[in-house]
Amino acid sequence: MAERVAVVSGAARGIGAAVAQRLAADGLAVGVLDLDAAHCADTVRAITEAGGKAVALGADVSKEDSVAAAVEELAGSLGAPTVLVNNAGILRDNLLFKMSVDDWDSVLGVHLRGAFLMTRAVQKYMVEAKWGRVVNLSSTSALGNRGQANYSAAKAGMQGFTKTLAFELGKFGVTANAIAPGFIATDMTAATAARVGVDFEDFQKAAAAQIPVQRVGTPADIAHTASFLVSEGAGFVSGQVIYVAGGPTN
Ligand code: NAP
Repeated sequence: MAERVAVVSGAARGIGAAVAQRLAADGLAVGVLDLDAAHCADTVRAITEAGGKAVALGADVSKEDSVAAAVEELAGSLGAPTVLVNNAGILRDNLLFKMSVDDWDSVLGVHLRGAFLMTRAVQKYMVEAKWGRVVNLSSTSALGNRGQANYSAAKAGMQGFTKTLAFELGKFGVTANAIAPGFIATDMTAATAARVGVDFEDFQKAAAAQIPVQRVGTPADIAHTASFLVSEGAGFVSGQVIYVAGGPTN
């Protein structure tokens, strides 16, 4: 089988970097996309040193032209992408009465508009290939979370977006699924700890105590789930939201 080409957004660090490395280890060539191509160097190096294939792509997923140029660049270098992981994300947490329009627009812009623009740009290659995999990063915050009206709306939106993709693209051999992580130890959760003035180790311990498996998640936990959803054998799994949170969610 010809080598598959994937693109992972927000792959300079955190969950995206782990997903990019895992897909490369699975044998895919990977476009490592982040705001600044230079910031993708560590992820690209980790992949190539392990014998995989990767290129760095600089793009702001919320900007139409930027997305189109990056996807075209990837198609011209590694080949037509048929796997897309919409992972890029930001937080602008605040209680509703203090949330600015910019906090709202920025979060919706990166998560939802970003996933829309990336998917629209990549789907044509999937449809042409009559095969594709879309994996969208949702969150347990989709169920509602204090201080995250913008983020929880975006992450719930990712679930509706995912299901619609599954309906529209299924006949072209394309599956679309969402992963909804719970607490994963990354710069994002470290920033939240810093914002509320709690040491990150203590923050993780407190979170772990509330999680049935008694630990916080790692980027590798999410990469493992993404690897399954992208695999050839997962072609009958579509339109699903998989909560990867160390226990059930309500
Ligand atoms: P992270 O460590 O903050 O990494 C996010 C990455 O996205 C960064 O490299 C960032 O680039 C990039 N990014 C931000 N805005 C972008 C844009 N407009 N265009 C392109 N790239 C952009 O976050 P993470 O914890 O790995 O989270 C990854 C995804 O999982 C996010 O969608 C997040 O909402 C979701 N998630 C995380 C958790 C968790 O507990 N960590 C839980 C549930 C869901 P810069 O470095 O340049 O800012």
